[in-house]
Amino acid sequence: MIRRIALLLCLLGPIALDGHQASPAPDTHGPVNHTVPRAIRRDVPLTNSIRRAFDAGTRDTTGRPGPNYWQLQTDYTIEARLDPSSQTITGTESIAVHNNSPQELTEIVLRLDHNIFRGVVPRGTSVPAENTDGMIVTRIAVNGEAVDLAAQPAGGGRGRGDANAPKRLAASGLDQTVGRLTLANAIAAKSTATLEIAWHTKLPGGPNGRGHRMTQRIDDTLFQPTQWFPRLAKFDDLRGWDTSLYLGPAEFYNNFGRFDVRIDVPGGWIVSGTGVLQNPQEVLTEKARERLAHVLESDEVITIVGEDESGPGQSTAPGDRLVWHFTADMVNDFAWATAKNYVWRATRATIPGKGPVPIHMVYVPSHANLYANAGPIARHALEFYSKLWAPYPFPQLTMQDGPSAGMEYPMVINSNQGAADHETGHQWWPMMVGTNETWYGWMDEGFNQYMNILSAADARGTAPNLNGLGQSYGRISGDENEPSMMWAANNAGNMYSFQTYAKAPLMLSMLGGIVGDAEVQRAMSEYAKTWSFKHPSPWDFIFFMDRALGRDLEWFWYYWLWTTESVDGSIADVKTSGSRTIVMVRQDGQMPSPVVLKVQFEPSGPAIKPMANAKMVGDTTAIVTWPVDVWFIGNRTFQATLDFGGRAISAITLDPGCRFPDRDPSDNVWPKKTGPTTPSSSARSRGETCGAE
Ligand SMILES: [Zn+2]
Repeated sequence: MIRRIALLLCLLGPIALDGHQASPAPDTHGPVNHTVPRAIRRDVPLTNSIRRAFDAGTRDTTGRPGPNYWQLQTDYTIEARLDPSSQTITGTESIAVHNNSPQELTEIVLRLDHNIFRGVVPRGTSVPAENTDGMIVTRIAVNGEAVDLAAQPAGGGRGRGDANAPKRLAASGLDQTVGRLTLANAIAAKSTATLEIAWHTKLPGGPNGRGHRMTQRIDDTLFQPTQWFPRLAKFDDLRGWDTSLYLGPAEFYNNFGRFDVRIDVPGGWIVSGTGVLQNPQEVLTEKARERLAHVLESDEVITIVGEDESGPGQSTAPGDRLVWHFTADMVNDFAWATAKNYVWRATRATIPGKGPVPIHMVYVPSHANLYANAGPIARHALEFYSKLWAPYPFPQLTMQDGPSAGMEYPMVINSNQGAADHETGHQWWPMMVGTNETWYGWMDEGFNQYMNILSAADARGTAPNLNGLGQSYGRISGDENEPSMMWAANNAGNMYSFQTYAKAPLMLSMLGGIVGDAEVQRAMSEYAKTWSFKHPSPWDFIFFMDRALGRDLEWFWYYWLWTTESVDGSIADVKTSGSRTIVMVRQDGQMPSPVVLKVQFEPSGPAIKPMANAKMVGDTTAIVTWPVDVWFIGNRTFQATLDFGGRAISAITLDPGCRFPDRDPSDNVWPKKTGPTTPSSSARSRGETCGAE
């Protein structure tokens, strides 16, 4: 306590000293009558998983990967054949599992997302229109030894029967979205194992080709397979195997690695997907190859395969069946699409420091209007986000038409122009920065929503306005349905969208109100670069940001990420005596914030004297700031003393940028508004009346 007050005094300096209450005083006025001072938490909780990582040296309080950081790498070789008449993909795959961890793996956890299409597995609120038999696994071998799939489930292989009996290679849960293999021989630390799997899955349709974001076909003429092959679950230093079920709404947490994929489809069907096509001479016409050679030459959108070119020998090379071969060097998933009558158009984006990359668009002719602006929108997104965070790391981007029009995979977005900016944004999170979306969707969708605001403003040629967003959270705070952001997104209930998508931009708006928006973006850019192709946790983000911003913001992260509290600031009273004006600022919420006052002076009078913690933003307007520390002793009121000389003050506004969560911003102004007020008017919530001037 002593140390904190000493720090407080040196931060505040002589001006604020006399405005600072020496000890917490019981409050007897105002809308909330708290007789105890508020206890402000100034650190973030450390869970057992992050403590383990600290102990192991895989992560630490620098927010950078620790000296012992490791992650598994999984390299996939897949051969898949699509049969449109049965709407089924049949595949074989080989996964090289590089166990870069210091632990042996005694089991393997598989992600079998297509089992969500069986009606009998746990599912979230987003329910597929069509049920199928799910992912049918017909063969599994580990290092050449086949699993007996007909045997009774091993029940996890532990804790049953004779504990001393030798473990046998066995599978369980292969009809669920998460399956397990118990291993007879553990995969040693720092060694590589090979997993071979044969499988087939029917791609689900929906009414009019819709019904679920994972609806994967339109009749038997267009297929948009996603999460379509058995994947190795993530094994990390925080929790070991990630066994979170795939329920539908919350997304993924996947290993990075190389993909080598051969896709066998009918001749005449164009295939797009993650990675780079390796055999254009075998599957494309000479005309298409010639057109592709010019994509990087200009920003023009050019046709690679036109509406009038269809069937084997026209849209593709001749042949009844063609095998399209793609590779991708370092990605965390692979998605693709194919259709009998795709039009293929392409343009480019120019990535700073890297040069041009192609943007491909494949769509059915009747959707041409939905792709008219798609190329320029995706180009703007790729170029803008490259400058904002880090250069786009992949060799191409493809927009795929189909029933799903708002999903993202590496180098692939299932989107037309409608969601092109947002889905392209996902190439940074989670395709480049591999966060655990199943638990912490806000590190993916939330950051994306924030950057979409910046991108939209840039596309309009205006400065982004993040005012109002932080303040608006005050109207939601207190809703009993709201889960904290640190709850796993799978458990977020009916405020999943708010928790995962909407809240992070509000949080980052408040952060910008404290350190400046440009600083927030600089720090996040360094974070993105540092964690490229790695897997940061929320604590890594928190500690990284604190370092990059040069501030201890743990109080900030605690209230935003672990609680649903707000600031609820107000101006309780203003008294002037001589040249001094004392503003009584109240905070009725639990979350503290800096005190920021906009002071407007009368146009004439004695000269306006400078104040150390004030900056003039015009001839008659000053912004005066006290750090958040003024609240750390637990008080609910703070006497902010203004001493600008004798110039009369005409108006004072608390939180003029509207950045701090506030249930009722109408009490942030002095003189108090008379007559009817609309405390939460939509204009104010959009930040139109917020700002320095
Ligand atoms: Zn998204």
